Amino acid sequence: METCRAHCLILPFPIQGHINPMLQFSKRLQHEGTKITLATTKSLFKTVNEVSGSISVKAISDGYDEGANGIAPEIYLLKFQKVGSETLTELILKLQDLGRPVDCIIYDAFLPWCLDVAKDLGVRAGVFFTQSCAVNNIYYHVRKGLLKLPLEATEVDIPGLPPLLASDLPSFVSNPGPYPATSQLVVHDQMEKIEEADWIFFNTFYKLEEKVNDWMATTLPVKTIGPTIPSMYLDKRLVDDKQYGLNLFKPMTNACVSWLSERSISSVVYVAFGSLAELDVVQMEELSWGLRTSNYHFLWVVRESESKKLPKDFVKETFDKGLIISWCPQPEVLAHKSIGCFITHCGWNSTLEALSLGVPMIAMPQWTDQSTNAKFVKDIWKMGIKAQPDENGIVRRDAIGQCLITVMEGEIGQEIRKNAKKWKDLARQALEEGGSSDENTKDFVSKLIQS
Ligand code: UDP
Repeated sequence: METCRAHCLILPFPIQGHINPMLQFSKRLQHEGTKITLATTKSLFKTVNEVSGSISVKAISDGYDEGANGIAPEIYLLKFQKVGSETLTELILKLQDLGRPVDCIIYDAFLPWCLDVAKDLGVRAGVFFTQSCAVNNIYYHVRKGLLKLPLEATEVDIPGLPPLLASDLPSFVSNPGPYPATSQLVVHDQMEKIEEADWIFFNTFYKLEEKVNDWMATTLPVKTIGPTIPSMYLDKRLVDDKQYGLNLFKPMTNACVSWLSERSISSVVYVAFGSLAELDVVQMEELSWGLRTSNYHFLWVVRESESKKLPKDFVKETFDKGLIISWCPQPEVLAHKSIGCFITHCGWNSTLEALSLGVPMIAMPQWTDQSTNAKFVKDIWKMGIKAQPDENGIVRRDAIGQCLITVMEGEIGQEIRKNAKKWKDLARQALEEGGSSDENTKDFVSKLIQS
């Protein structure tokens, strides 16, 4: 390990799926000898500080120091930009006064105004995208005017990507109507000035998104640095940092790991929809009975806010087959030998975790980038299948049962498991000494030290 003075300030957007990968990347950069300050909002400071280990955590303000629950996205984003720009600037100046000048700000792409802060202060900037290279390429094409919205064709051809149906595109592209502020941020604002960033980091690995990465690299300084998964689950020779990011929800670790340990190899269906997705009440009911009647053991994460949608007495009636918990240490669960498949919303972190840990997926995308991730899981990486919704958008219990049989027992399932092993090996290789993500991370650090 090199000793150096390069100092990076890392600022994730304050939600679960963004803090996790950026905290893991921080740990990796620190391991390479970079000094790290992780900045977060005042309301999350205590939680992040508790899991950051030797990484220094500092607070800035998003304007809602007691938490921003219930605040509309358009109001929140504007306030964060205003108050965040001021308090981030203050923090960087303070660190400078303390003799710890910041050499580079690595900011979440959801906080595009950080680039202006960096430029005003004469600090270099790297933008970190928590979604796949493919999805970002789609947004990039929209922002460049190469993909016109509203979509006119039912199929689109984008360089670096396979032909995509409109329904494979992120919901903010195919149907931005219901979430105008978030669509504006994700499709336009985060891409607005990316050419001006010194580095562009993607939480993916080269072999997984080779074509699209090559295409983007022709015009942009992209670096694949993922998967940002604790190395203990991938390969013990890599940096061992045990703790995976932070949990904004209380994990029921002991309960679920000991329950899993009593089950046989590859026999359990793991079900989780990440930290944000809210299932329709009818969908919850169909999923419940689909799982119950399939007869496989299942471990299902139902966040507290979703639990009232479970059918009456379901937990009691299924205790012999299923364990329902409000949150778990997901990578630890996915790495457990008893897991046979993962019913997932295909959030990018969950998708990447399942790919890297070799777990076959049944995709049930809900919104944002999840449809695109599901398309790649099924057709490009061949790591799973997609559960088909009916004309009302509900995946019925029979369809769920059929998907489970296909993946757990069928020939397609065997094929998927073969591919799963391949992706797991490639993910590990990307992070190993000399692997693509390892080299990209080291190259960034050495450039930062040199200049
Ligand atoms: N996660 C977890 N425990 C759970 C469910 C999810 O630790 O019970 C983690 C999961 O490992 C992933 C993140 O929460 O890192 C969810 O991110 P993702 O991009 O998959 O979905 P989002 O929450 O952004 O929709």
